Amino acid sequence: MSSYRGRFAPSPTGPLHLGSLVAAMASYLDARVHQGQWLVRIEDLDFDRNVQGADTAILHTLQRCGMHWDEDIVWQSQRTEFYQTALQTLATHVFPCGCSRKEIADSRVRAGLQDQQIYPGTCRHGLASGKPARSYRLRVPDGDAAVFEFEDRFLGRQIQNLATEVGDFVLKRADGFWAYQLAVVVDDALQDITHIVRGSDLLDSTARQIYLQKLLGLPAPAYLHLPVVLSTNGEKLSKQTGAVGFDWGDNDLLKEALLPAADFLELHLARHPIDIPDFWNLASEMWQHKLSEKKGHDIS
Ligand code: GLU
Repeated sequence: MSSYRGRFAPSPTGPLHLGSLVAAMASYLDARVHQGQWLVRIEDLDFDRNVQGADTAILHTLQRCGMHWDEDIVWQSQRTEFYQTALQTLATHVFPCGCSRKEIADSRVRAGLQDQQIYPGTCRHGLASGKPARSYRLRVPDGDAAVFEFEDRFLGRQIQNLATEVGDFVLKRADGFWAYQLAVVVDDALQDITHIVRGSDLLDSTARQIYLQKLLGLPAPAYLHLPVVLSTNGEKLSKQTGAVGFDWGDNDLLKEALLPAADFLELHLARHPIDIPDFWNLASEMWQHKLSEKKGHDIS
C-alpha cells in the first residue's frame, strides 16, 4: 500500500460550502490517485467560532457526497494534552506576551509598521514589570535563518521571511485557546500526514508551520495550495454562503455541489457522470491528468 496520507481538516463554523468542498474534494482526489489514506480531522479549538452541530453536518455531507474517510475522526478539542507537551518542548523559544490587540496596533504605529501585520516584538525580551502574560508567542529567527522556502506542488517555489513578514507568532492565545499553527503541526505529525492539500488562504501560514516542524523535529509534509473560491463580490466564501444543503438528494449534490466544485478545480470531466460513484471515477482521472500536466514542477 502507498505511504501517502492526506487529510481534510475543517473548522466546524458552519455547514460545508463550495469553498470547503473544493478543499475536501482536492485532498480526497489526491489521496485516491495516490492510493493513499484520507483522514478527516475536526479543528474545533476556537470555541467562540464553533457552531453546535456543524461538525456532524459536515461529516454527514462528506458521506452523502461519497467521500469516505479512513481511520477514526479526530477532534482537536480532545487532544489538548498534545499541544501542551509541544509547548513545553518549545519552551526555550517561547515567551509570554502581555500585549492586547490595541497595544500591538499602537506599537506598530510607533515603529512605522502600521501597514503590516507583524508583531512588533514588544515582549520579546521580557514582560514589562507588573504586566500579566496574556498569550504565548514563538520567537522567530533573525537574519537569513528567518527565510523559509518550500516547493508548493501547484504554485511552485514559495518564500517567506518570518522576521520581516510575520514576527513572533502566537501558540497559545490570550483567551486560553490553542493557536491553529501549533495544533495543526502537532496533529499532522501525530497522524503521519505526508501530503497537505488546502486552500491558498493558508499559504501564508505554511512557513510558520515548517518552522514549528523544524523546532519540534517533525517531518515536513508536501504542500499543495488551491485557489480560494470567492463570492461574486470577490470575498472569501463564508460558511453561510454557498452552503451545501443538508437534505439534498444525490442529483442536487451532483448538480449543485460536486460538479461546480470540480469545475472550479478545472477538472474537465470526460462526460456527464451518471451518479456519485461515477463522478469520483471521472474526477479522479482528471485529477491524475492535472498532476501529470504539472509534472515539470515535480509534483507527484
Ligand atoms: N481548519 C482550517 C480551516 O478550516 C484548515 C486547516 C488546514 O487545512 O491546515 O480553514
